[in-house]
Amino acid sequence: MTSRYVGRLAPSPTGALHLGNVRTFMVAWLRARSRGGKLLFRMEDLDHPRDKPGAAAAAVDDLRWLGFDWDEECTQSERRPLYAAAIRSLRGQGRVYPCACSRKDVENAQSAPHAGEQLFYPGTCRGRFATWEDAAAFAGRTPCWRFRTEPGDVVSFTDLFAGPQRMDVAATLGDFPLARDRDGAGYTLAAVVDDAATGVTEVVRGDDLLAATPPQILLYRALGLEPPAFFHVPLVTGMDGRRLAKRHGDTRVASYRAAGVAPERVLGFLARSCGWGDGSPTTLRELLGACDFAAIPHAPFRVSEQLICDIMYAKQSGVKT
Ligand code: GLU
Repeated sequence: MTSRYVGRLAPSPTGALHLGNVRTFMVAWLRARSRGGKLLFRMEDLDHPRDKPGAAAAAVDDLRWLGFDWDEECTQSERRPLYAAAIRSLRGQGRVYPCACSRKDVENAQSAPHAGEQLFYPGTCRGRFATWEDAAAFAGRTPCWRFRTEPGDVVSFTDLFAGPQRMDVAATLGDFPLARDRDGAGYTLAAVVDDAATGVTEVVRGDDLLAATPPQILLYRALGLEPPAFFHVPLVTGMDGRRLAKRHGDTRVASYRAAGVAPERVLGFLARSCGWGDGSPTTLRELLGACDFAAIPHAPFRVSEQLICDIMYAKQSGVKT
């Protein structure tokens, strides 16, 4: 038989918790609890320039207010020795090297125009520096660790929500970056090390990270670890289809809370966006019996200003999703 389900909530303290984060966490909580599984809480606080003071504690507060619970928690900034050990292991296999290139350098090295954020790295710094310090001295700033891909580094997996995925990582991304930190304390590596160390069996997260998954699966392989299952849910966007931002209106949980809106109201609207119920106030526990994961739409959930007002002013009529 398969082992017990272990899921996780992994917020980054880069800003206030908003409807988009909550919708993904709601699905993650329900996937775990509907199976009698365990849920971990991991604060992903390694993104120093973007992390905001107070955001970690505020996110915990907001999640508790909404009724979320979890069984264990950890903080990535306290786990640096684990990431450093993973770097040592990968170094020992010759699978990582320090890279002095800036983003601009990598952009300039593209042979074809690259859409979006996924740049191809042709391996400019392969074999160039003996040590991290050499790369740092050459660059005059913090270098990054890159994973040395090999022809045939192709990853296929079936995402439990998004379906079959395949990426020839060597041809698509080349030597992808792991962390801009000497100890390897950066998102791509740390998430893999932590999910494996804490026995996570399924990762539920936003589908903005779908393309980050094949490189992460290569890391599992290189570290001799078993990858978890993945369930990537569509993001919440504004009506323009762009990632939620201030210009779309105030979608921060803390604002609803400060305005006296009940947490059940917020959850009711988000549940409705997943195809569960009519938007009536609800709780996570009530949703346990009603969450059919196959009902979640595959398109992004577009939030209108009207919807934001409807949640805020607790009106139920005339709501469009
Ligand atoms: N910390 C990331 C975020 O808040 C999620 C990373 C993950 O789930 O792997 O978007």
